[in-house]
Amino acid sequence: MKIALVGYGVEGRASYNYFSRFPENEIVVFDEFSKRPRDLPSDVLFVTGEHALEELRSQHFDKVLRTPPLAPSKLEGVANVTSGTREFFAACPAPIIGVTGSKGKGTISSLIYEILKAAGKSVWLVGNIGMPALDVLPDVKSDDIVVYELSSFQLWDLERSPHTAVISMVEPEHLDVHANVDEYYQAKGNIRRHQTIEDNCFYHPTNEISKQIADMGGPHDPSERELWRSKSSRYAVPDDGAVYVKENTFFVRNQHICSAKILQLVGQHNVENACAAISAALVYTNDFDAVAMGLTNFKGLPHRLQLVNEKSDVKYYDDSIATTPGSAIAALGSFEAPKVLIVGGSDKGADFAELAREITKHKMRGVITIGAMGPIIADELRKADYTDITETEELMPSVVQLASNIAQAGDIVILSPSCASFDQYKNYADRGEQFTAAVANL
Ligand code: ADP
Repeated sequence: MKIALVGYGVEGRASYNYFSRFPENEIVVFDEFSKRPRDLPSDVLFVTGEHALEELRSQHFDKVLRTPPLAPSKLEGVANVTSGTREFFAACPAPIIGVTGSKGKGTISSLIYEILKAAGKSVWLVGNIGMPALDVLPDVKSDDIVVYELSSFQLWDLERSPHTAVISMVEPEHLDVHANVDEYYQAKGNIRRHQTIEDNCFYHPTNEISKQIADMGGPHDPSERELWRSKSSRYAVPDDGAVYVKENTFFVRNQHICSAKILQLVGQHNVENACAAISAALVYTNDFDAVAMGLTNFKGLPHRLQLVNEKSDVKYYDDSIATTPGSAIAALGSFEAPKVLIVGGSDKGADFAELAREITKHKMRGVITIGAMGPIIADELRKADYTDITETEELMPSVVQLASNIAQAGDIVILSPSCASFDQYKNYADRGEQFTAAVANL
């Protein structure tokens, strides 16, 4: 088979490894922007530069694998376009639990994985979480379960939906790549669009877009559609068939599952994430002890509202992956104590008006604005009549020093930037690590 890989990032490499197992496959890599990757075997043709996609169009391939952030429209007219995610969905012998949303995907996917592992299942955690699905596909067996964290880029042209879909909080994101919000929402819709009445869907309790996505697709016939709809439930609310919390206890259909106090994560949004995860896991197990064990075992992912240090009775939280205003709002809502918020970074097309309004409702000690979007966020705060603002263009050591000067004993300092990191840092992880190092040096 003649195979084109368009893009050679993490997924491109996984596709290469997957298809190059068969010597009869001839692989050509196209990448408009990168230089020839060092790890690409020398006998593989690599086409780069601005004419790379024209070159692709001039040849015939049996499969053309789109890299996730490349818009499918860039490959319009090209025959046999597919992607690592599409290949996985077509060939995977095991049921797939797909998890999407603007925020919450990683946490929910990891919690499902931990619960099912505790229940003794053979389970795989793949996708956006950092494990390309094709890397594990040759080892997946039919009685395994796959938990697939799905970004809008992976869902963009997917023509199958997972057996169980979880739709977390959705807000405008990735507008640097998607043409507009509707395109982003429609891409996310593929997690639900092709589900049948055999499948299940769990969606966010209050997020209107999550609800709209849960209603995308399905049969046209009214009675069939009713049945299809009945397979989707809101999580974290009583009486909708999914898991909810009452009196500090997780329940499903009036059955007591386990105490909610064992959850190792802070914030109401994480209680909701746990409800989503338990709801999805209970499709595959009814072992409530395993639910409790899974929740206990999961200590959270790095850079997600992670307590990194306590200095002079001030707690410092690294929430560097909070690259949208909605995730920073969730972080603020997670603590009663007065807070110092560090916010700003590079633009992702977000609107900060709601975050500014939320800030005025919380017990705040101050807001430090950083990076390229700092002045814009500061203006938005002033418009909302919030004035305890410190604006800085400095890097983490000075930023953290400023925060420690403002904070008082018992306060919380949160790096929850609501923006991307690329103006001043390599990525969100680098930004979080620099924050943690600066706190350690206080
Ligand atoms: P994702 O994988 O979708 O980026 P994560 O679970 O890794 O999501 O969390 C990323 C950020 O979003 C963290 O700052 C986290 O606190 C915040 N977050 C997680 N779940 C939610 C939610 N349901 N609503 C709002 N923010 C959330």
